[in-house]
Amino acid sequence: MQALIDAAVRLGAAKAVIIPAEQVVLSAEFRKICESNSCGRYGRCWMCPPEIGDIEPLMEQVRGYRYGLLYQTISELEDSFDIEGMFEAGAAHAQLSQRIEKSGLLPQDHLHLTCGGCRLCERCAKADGEPCRYPQDALPSMEGYGIDVYNTTKGTPLKYINGSNTVTYFGIVML
Ligand code: SF4
Repeated sequence: MQALIDAAVRLGAAKAVIIPAEQVVLSAEFRKICESNSCGRYGRCWMCPPEIGDIEPLMEQVRGYRYGLLYQTISELEDSFDIEGMFEAGAAHAQLSQRIEKSGLLPQDHLHLTCGGCRLCERCAKADGEPCRYPQDALPSMEGYGIDVYNTTKGTPLKYINGSNTVTYFGIVML
């Protein structure tokens, strides 16, 4: 387990920790947040609702694992209106998730969830009614599977917010 934490940090995570699956807080309410579409990705990303399926079976999948490798990236922004910086940080986080996924250290049976909206492509093919360009690589979001990231980080060394003019993204590998 320590090897996975070390690998996540070596690959670019600011911090990583292993938590028991019972510490992963789940709530079906997150589907309503997705449906409100404040991020603009609902129905416009193959890795977001409604394409990923009903939330209850997805939460059941999360419950089927014993541990979670929870990791985060913390990126500097010019200011709190730095939307471009937030997008770049999200894309960088998605690339970290790919490095962890392809590290060769994860067991075959795992569930890797990352920050919302996939972000492997600048514009998801779903928005243009086209098939996913990288179906082997695309990862769904923690919130899409009902994970309450804020409450899941409580009691861990990973802070949900890391100071002014920063943006923090999370990922988790259920093991
Ligand atoms: S890989 Fe590209 S096309 Fe596929 S879900 Fe991610 S952003 Fe969309």
